[in-house]
Amino acid sequence: MSTDKKRVLFYLLDGARPDMLTELIAQGKLPHLQQLVEEGTFQIATTCFPSTTGPAYLPFLTGQFPGTMNIPGIRWFDKQEFKRTRWNKMAMRSYCGLEAGWFNTDMPADKATLFDLLGESYNLYNMITRNIPDTHDLGKKGKNWLYTRAHFLKRHHPVDIQGHERIMGLLKSGKDFDFLFAVFPSVDWDSHYHHIRDHRTIAAYQIADNSIGEVRDYLEKKGWWKNMLFMLTSDHGLTPSHTHFDLGDWMTKQGMKSVGYPIIWRQNPKSAVMISGNSFGSVHLLNHDGDHVLQEKELVDHFSKERMDELLKKKAVDFITYRGNREGEYYVQNHQGKALISQHQETYAYRPIDADPLFLQNITVKGHRGALESTFNSLYPDALVQISQLFKSRRAGDIVVSARNGYDLRDFWEYPEHKGSHGSLTKEHIHVPLIYNQKGWAEHAARTADIFPTILKWMDKPVPVNEGNALN
Ligand SMILES: [Zn+2]
Repeated sequence: MSTDKKRVLFYLLDGARPDMLTELIAQGKLPHLQQLVEEGTFQIATTCFPSTTGPAYLPFLTGQFPGTMNIPGIRWFDKQEFKRTRWNKMAMRSYCGLEAGWFNTDMPADKATLFDLLGESYNLYNMITRNIPDTHDLGKKGKNWLYTRAHFLKRHHPVDIQGHERIMGLLKSGKDFDFLFAVFPSVDWDSHYHHIRDHRTIAAYQIADNSIGEVRDYLEKKGWWKNMLFMLTSDHGLTPSHTHFDLGDWMTKQGMKSVGYPIIWRQNPKSAVMISGNSFGSVHLLNHDGDHVLQEKELVDHFSKERMDELLKKKAVDFITYRGNREGEYYVQNHQGKALISQHQETYAYRPIDADPLFLQNITVKGHRGALESTFNSLYPDALVQISQLFKSRRAGDIVVSARNGYDLRDFWEYPEHKGSHGSLTKEHIHVPLIYNQKGWAEHAARTADIFPTILKWMDKPVPVNEGNALN
């Protein structure tokens, strides 16, 4: 176990916002992260659309966006499979419950994860566990019980504390590792059920900081730290929500009886509504012949212009997006009007038609990096690439709804009530922190998908085709 060997230690601080980290570091509340930031790099990166736990783990673990991986939500619906035969395992999915284990087999088998590519790989709490033996899945033992208890008692921190103990247990066991990926879930949970600034949420940030301090101290004494790549990021930010708008219930009241989780058995549904995060909604129309996803003309025919206008009037709806009539074209529409996003080969463009719902004016740019640069500091970072990638999947709805900050799209069946939300394309959900213990790497705008090739390159491994660009 040479001290010259390279290793990777990756903390996923689920739901962490970059501005919260900056603030807590400035207050001296995260001393170990502060040290890392001083010695290394702290930049902002973009996650993906939907900005939601699960799908938003795909960019850094596989280098691919959710649309490419055909997992465009923590809940999704496949019209083609549903219309083929309703009681079909592939017709719809919710990774929030018993079906979580299917995430592994839902992923395309030919797309490798970092766990497949990096030798001795250990996982803590992340749900993507394909090919990870139980001995390398540190959180697995007792996870279901621990998570259930945390959820119903709204006491989340024991999960993170036990996670940290499992990491220390691995290190003290004398076993070596190449890649250790650890999820700290409580910032996300506390932000959902309390508030993004609640004292319990802040304590969750501090639990992760303490863990980083203790793990680093141990690795320094062992001589492993000097060749260690340490990275920390998040899968999405969150914003507080004050009002719930139940999109599925609204569809039913509009005469478009909807199925969705957990009510999936309704007779003769006219639509399916799948919510992620809870600021992302995917609406699938079933009131038409055929089993295809709808493009603009058919969508307006089957949904009706009146319903569309009613939906756009809802305060909770920031904008909707749907496929245009031509390949590579997508509309973005709010109550004022719509704009067109297009991707033709390497050229991305955004053009207001009768309104500018994303406040981007006119953009025409070459390449997906250019598209990121031109939107990075906007209200909807990486909108052009993220909407294009999402609609690659037929499981992305006929209409996708992105909620306004302050609102979410699910009410009826939510327990405990959510007071924070994510999933949308707003910058508060899309911008995530990216901290690593290296200096002088690329300073261009980053995506979490860039982490995948960066880690492989650091470890001198071959890099499969992916949607990121290495930072190193
Ligand atoms: Zn999350």
